[in-house]
Amino acid sequence: MQATNPIWAEVQQLLQKTLSKPSFETWIRPAKFNCFENGLLTLITPNSFSSDWLRKNYCETIEKAAKEICGHDVKVVFKSEANSTYSTTKDNLNKQKNSFKTKSFSNISQDNSPKNQFKNPNGLNLRYVFKRFVVGPNSRLAHAAALAVAESPGREFNPLFICGGVGLGKTHLMQAIGHYRVEIDREAKVKYVSTETFTNDVISGIRRDGMTAIRDKYRNVDLILIDDIQFLEGKEYTQEEFFHTFNALHESGSQIVIASDRPPNQLSGIQERLISRFSMGMTADIQPPDLETRTAILQKKAEQERMSLPRDLIQFIAGRFTSNIRELEGAFTRAVAFASITGLPMTVQSIAPMLDPNSVGVVVTPRQVINKVSDFFKVSTDELISSSRRKPVSQARQIGMYLMRHSTSLSLPRIGDEFGGKDHTTVMYAIEQVEKKLSVDPNVATQVQKIRDLLQIDSRKNS
Ligand code: ADP
Ligand code: MG
Repeated sequence: MQATNPIWAEVQQLLQKTLSKPSFETWIRPAKFNCFENGLLTLITPNSFSSDWLRKNYCETIEKAAKEICGHDVKVVFKSEANSTYSTTKDNLNKQKNSFKTKSFSNISQDNSPKNQFKNPNGLNLRYVFKRFVVGPNSRLAHAAALAVAESPGREFNPLFICGGVGLGKTHLMQAIGHYRVEIDREAKVKYVSTETFTNDVISGIRRDGMTAIRDKYRNVDLILIDDIQFLEGKEYTQEEFFHTFNALHESGSQIVIASDRPPNQLSGIQERLISRFSMGMTADIQPPDLETRTAILQKKAEQERMSLPRDLIQFIAGRFTSNIRELEGAFTRAVAFASITGLPMTVQSIAPMLDPNSVGVVVTPRQVINKVSDFFKVSTDELISSSRRKPVSQARQIGMYLMRHSTSLSLPRIGDEFGGKDHTTVMYAIEQVEKKLSVDPNVATQVQKIRDLLQIDSRKNS
């Protein structure tokens, strides 16, 4: 098989000019030339999903471009490289969505949770676009499916269910669909929401605003992106409301995209009828990235941040942080921060020990923790060890207790003593609260990590 051929190269060039960048990069660029005989151009695609999509959506465009280049009619066929298949139920109707087309205002509304920083006025995180998403074998199918629903929403892949472990790019990919949809159709009404926010809205609907307000808010959209659906587990009433929202959206031909840390059939505590709806479109998973993809992600990040990191340091980080892209990015940011705070050279030798999550030999005193937390949150040490219930103070105190537990060998009662004589149950409660927040709120995770790093730098300086 030839990787490329002059005719296919020219056809690609022509298509590059007429198609949007994400469409070109996802569908056309990866298609490899196989052979061209008797007016029949055979292309090889990375998977069966791409073949199907190209056949349905791009065949004519490619044939037209090929005719222009060759001067005679050309037929195109697609074969997939891997025998990969994807799960979708074909029997759902191809619903065309026209009902919302007449609405003339465009709006991406948003999840108001503090997790989403750098939002544009419309609500999606500006960084979560296709352009910044590095596609590897681990995410190729999910990425292609995401692009497919952005291009043709409300058709056969409805809902698109994206699943995968923590920090593997589900939220990024899902928001990229929203951005791209609006790029294609400025009138499109897109809504991104976390399941947490949906749940809170339902609760406040029951208490105050009434359900009509919620129904208006969630059913009047063309594309809804619902994140972390696993948090519906055990919430009967919210599930009930979500079931009706889902049906209303699906019936009107709106595209639904759901992200979850597990595939539908592994969700527990969620009604059967919801699970069966989750599985009626397409399920695509994201796996942990391989070394090559992790390296590519770091290189891209370095490019974007205009930072130059030596190759061996990038490789060190990519080799070390293997299961989670958020941690991989975190390690990168910390490497850069360490180098700038300490003035150490950006080499594996100087930076690596700082990045080691199990780094030993660093002794931190309770006083250092108190001082560092007080500095960081701009709360005086007196307030920190007082009984003040002011929110910024009590939050800083909880993080202080958590850090003291994890960076010193003090017992719970001794930590209580350090914080002005608090009871050990108070300390335990504080630690639990921080642990809970760490798993759902990246802001808290970043704060804790930063203070840890600062403590580490201090104690290395002193040792
Ligand atoms: P999840 O929602 O699966 O927990 P996120 O979408 O929040 O994960 O991704 C975590 C971080 O990793 C984000 O900053 C995101 O931009 C980044 N990231 C994830 N996957 C990729 C990828 N394939 N290419 C580039 N960055 C990625
Ligand atoms: Mg997420």
